Amino acid sequence: MRNLRVNGERLWASLMALARIGATEKGGVCRLAASDLDAEARRLFIGWCEAAGCTVTVDRIGNIFARRPGRDPDLPPVMAGSHLDTQPTGGRFDGAYGVMAGLEVVRSLNDLGYETKAPLEIVAWTNEEGSRFSPAMVGSGAFTGVFGIEGALSTRDNNAPELTLGGELERIGFAGPAPVGGRKVAAYFEAHIEQGPILEAAGLPVGIVTGAQGQRWYEITVTGQEAHAGPTPMPRRRDALVGAARMIDAVNRIGHAHAPSACATVGFVQVSPNSRNTIPGQVFFTVDFRHPQDEVLTAMDRELRAACAEAASSQRLEVAVEEFWYFPPTPFAPKLVGAVREAARVQGYPHQDIVSGAGHDAVYLARIAPSAMIFVPCVGGISHNEIEDAKPEDLTAGCNVLLNAVLEADAAVVSGA
Ligand SMILES: [Zn+2]
Repeated sequence: MRNLRVNGERLWASLMALARIGATEKGGVCRLAASDLDAEARRLFIGWCEAAGCTVTVDRIGNIFARRPGRDPDLPPVMAGSHLDTQPTGGRFDGAYGVMAGLEVVRSLNDLGYETKAPLEIVAWTNEEGSRFSPAMVGSGAFTGVFGIEGALSTRDNNAPELTLGGELERIGFAGPAPVGGRKVAAYFEAHIEQGPILEAAGLPVGIVTGAQGQRWYEITVTGQEAHAGPTPMPRRRDALVGAARMIDAVNRIGHAHAPSACATVGFVQVSPNSRNTIPGQVFFTVDFRHPQDEVLTAMDRELRAACAEAASSQRLEVAVEEFWYFPPTPFAPKLVGAVREAARVQGYPHQDIVSGAGHDAVYLARIAPSAMIFVPCVGGISHNEIEDAKPEDLTAGCNVLLNAVLEADAAVVSGA
């Protein structure tokens, strides 16, 4: 494998210039999908891509593809990218890093006069965050056929339901002419900050992402009987909150029982009638289970249902456990993961394998093309926060790995691949 290097200072300068668009007082970024600021960031990115000799196309859902030609225009492209939108109190690196790293790869190849075999495309996916328009990862989801295009375009603004994603993309000039998806991708790479504490704690600049963990989300309704908090003796009560509390404790215990890879969270609870002198008659809460192995998620599902049934019967309650969302574990393409690992080794970067705890555009791309991700540490493992931070040398390391992994994938592209 080759050992080529990017220009880390130029990468950092681009990231900082991009972070000025939507910059917040606390040093973060607020650049919501399909907003005026999103449009400004898109225009800056496109200007840079065109200056680097790329041809830019925008599809109907606003995904941007900047293509650097290769020797054979008929080969499917090798892609590298991520997203430009942020959370309302987001940071400077989530998403932006993957797009700017793709741009830096193109600029470095230009500096080196390196001609790839296949075309190389830098991509910026629309609305990855899902915070203004839910769900998340809509641009990559539409591109890969997870979401129908019309449904995706008619997604409504969570705070201004009269606005749709499609309408807002049109307003900002990014409802493009290109059809969404339906074309071959030779390989997809996404560089991203880890958004967790593992790499920083291990003192490693690079994580080789072997896949994304699976998720099972539930909505649970516990029903008892409302009654007066004073005259109702303890043995007669059917207290839905007591039952729910035992179930929530069970969720936490199930997570610990499958540690360290499992995550189990109750993040939303509604108590009815939520009155201090009425015994709660009904409780609604959500459960978010995550694990990289499907069989473990299945075991966690069984344990949850058993714990809920037991807590309900001991309190004489009814319980309804509804699975709300299931997202299977996504292993990335072993060949590409191997190319990323080899690139890190050749560059002399200490690294470890890691599983992504969050969803990313790469998880949808993995459904239609060989895909892989490269993680770099972020300070304190903190993301989706204005204080999100990353070290320039780690960002450079991840981009160097991206460059060499992209070239390895390019060498492997064959027609009809
Ligand atoms: Zn992201």
